[in-house]
Amino acid sequence: MKKILLFLVLLGLYNGYSQSHSHSGAKPMTYPDIEGYNTLKTDLHMHTVFSDGNVWPTIRVQEALRENLDAISLTEHLEYQPHKEDIPHPDRNRSFDLALAEAKEHDLLIVRGSEITRSAPVGHNNAIFISDANKLLIERPENTFAEANKQGAFVFWNHPAWHRQRPQGNPVWSDFQIERAKKGELHGIEVINTTDYSEESLALALEHNLTIMGTSDIHGLVDWSYTEKGNHRPITLVFAKDKSLEGLKEALFAGRTVAVYNSLLVGRPEYLKPLLKASIRVNSASYIEKTQVLKVEIENISSSDLLFENEMPYTFYSSSPVFEVAAGQTKTLQIKTLEPLKNIDLQLKALGAYTAPKEHPIIEWKLSTD
Ligand SMILES: [Zn+2]
Ligand SMILES: [Zn+2]
Repeated sequence: MKKILLFLVLLGLYNGYSQSHSHSGAKPMTYPDIEGYNTLKTDLHMHTVFSDGNVWPTIRVQEALRENLDAISLTEHLEYQPHKEDIPHPDRNRSFDLALAEAKEHDLLIVRGSEITRSAPVGHNNAIFISDANKLLIERPENTFAEANKQGAFVFWNHPAWHRQRPQGNPVWSDFQIERAKKGELHGIEVINTTDYSEESLALALEHNLTIMGTSDIHGLVDWSYTEKGNHRPITLVFAKDKSLEGLKEALFAGRTVAVYNSLLVGRPEYLKPLLKASIRVNSASYIEKTQVLKVEIENISSSDLLFENEMPYTFYSSSPVFEVAAGQTKTLQIKTLEPLKNIDLQLKALGAYTAPKEHPIIEWKLSTD
């Protein structure tokens, strides 16, 4: 009997704990698919003790599973090995191997990658989908890029706006990048790294046709850096033909991405607009009795809080023209259509989303009223 009581108390304590701390655990992320593509949630830039991170590779896999990611890459610095006295790292593929073994029972893709680490103007660059990290240990960065590309790598420029390397906090497109881009050896660029979104990096992505990336660049724990502050880690949504390494790689080379950090979404309009459109589900649209005020209930099925501004010729009843639909929540709009309409285009500008510096997409949903 005592044992049962103790068990119940423990159970009660456990329940009480989990309820009163409902915001402290990592929540799985969810984003809808868009037409023709699976939406893969990826974090393709992170570190472990095998470079300057503070955790074993298995932890990165477990963190990714807690947030429901589809793919990760452990991109250890090739040239920066501060733990090498304690953890010698003669085989630079070791971190990948350990993560791969941990992910074996799970539906998580592990991409082999490395961070090519130099001072400006080369800066830091991730080469992912490589076949052997050891072969990238080459002195001249030009040759490292050439070898990574020989291995079929997708290469992206990391934190080009990093103030430690660029004191103005802005990227500089130098001769090194000009040369790599000309040779087709540079394919992507981070516009979001950790908590930094760089409009200037987005401008470079659009000007030089580079894939738009967002990454956590996590060194410590995702929980401590993001989750317990009420955030998700930055990710890249990749629109792939299927959930496989080949599908992911093809989509990255084709530039089908949106970088996401909480309520901030950055991407080319051809992918960002369908993503936002699919993220809002219209649950109902009907007139308030004896009025020409249309009540529309919308639901945000994504993990980003979405901020919108009314772009219709009609104004709202009882609401600011700027409003938020929190992740997973519903919102009822009351639209003054002046006369009863059978069909209406709901048009909203997504204020937290960018298709270019200072440019927000306008999303349209075709509604039929009851
Ligand atoms: Zn770096
Ligand atoms: Zn890094």
